[in-house]
Amino acid sequence: MTASLPATMRASVLLAPRVLEVQERPVPALDPDQVLVEVAAVGVCGSDVHFWHDGRLGDWVVDEPLVLGHESGGRIVAVGRDVDPARIGERVSIEPQRPTPFSRETLEGRYNLDPHMRFYATPGVDGAFAQYVAIQSHFAWHVPDEVSDDAAALMEPLSVAVATAQKAAVTVGSRVLVTGAGPIGVLVAQVARAYGASEVVMSDISADRRAEALRFGATHVVDPLAEDVGSLGLDVDVFVDASGAAPAVQGGVRAVRPAGRVVLVGMGAAEIALPIPVIQNRELLVTGVFRYANTWPTAIELVRSGKVDVDSMVTGHFGLEEVGAAFASANSPGVLKSVVTPQR
Ligand code: ZN
Repeated sequence: MTASLPATMRASVLLAPRVLEVQERPVPALDPDQVLVEVAAVGVCGSDVHFWHDGRLGDWVVDEPLVLGHESGGRIVAVGRDVDPARIGERVSIEPQRPTPFSRETLEGRYNLDPHMRFYATPGVDGAFAQYVAIQSHFAWHVPDEVSDDAAALMEPLSVAVATAQKAAVTVGSRVLVTGAGPIGVLVAQVARAYGASEVVMSDISADRRAEALRFGATHVVDPLAEDVGSLGLDVDVFVDASGAAPAVQGGVRAVRPAGRVVLVGMGAAEIALPIPVIQNRELLVTGVFRYANTWPTAIELVRSGKVDVDSMVTGHFGLEEVGAAFASANSPGVLKSVVTPQR
């Protein structure tokens, strides 16, 4: 441990829907296998915005004060008893999950599906809109100097895109449709191109977001209010929904060629009617992704090598006192990804 660490820190705490307060809290105490990270940057995620706006997200309900934020990076400033003190000073990206070590899913290598998972910024587990966070040392991933603090934070949503591309078996020459050009859709497009996709068609109802999609990997864009993606004869190998909108999912399934793959990433409507004969007659594989497992090394390399550009996706920076403003502007025109810098 270093002697110079303060005993308390500032954290942005959600007290009730749309009520945030910056509080003085104890700096987290470390378990033997943890490191303490001085947080440099935290991405604002749609799920944070939902928790803030509604006090809930799906089955999760915020019933006690909660620190949001799960896309974070920074610098190790202290280590637990079992961690090499040489790591102090290292810049890291945080994989914000804590699976139990011996669940069946963890032992099978799918630790993201561990039913006893503790994940940042879900009820009962504080997140990263704070000056310091604790994380298991193996999930504090070293980032090289050429990766920025913002990019270190955005390895988290990039990991969702990597997990999606892997599930969809995107490879050289793949033709891909992505519906929804928010941050996740744009990241999926970039990763698909990095994996060799020859075509990435993206649809979004916003002209603004369609223009952004073309900047970040889309080869074509479609306005779903003018054209139905299911009737364009796209015949793609892979369809990724990053919108959660029923018409996008239904049209997208119809756009997939026989034996193609469908990955549902977007969170929106909880139940959507699907064209079953299309899925049966074309033997489509339909799956979801729930976060990620074992994706950080790939995500860091995609950014380090310049194959994926997350820095250009950042449209604004906010201080810890401004987290509410960051949330309130999340769906405004021109906003793609906001980043909170808790040290200022
Ligand atoms: Zn997220």
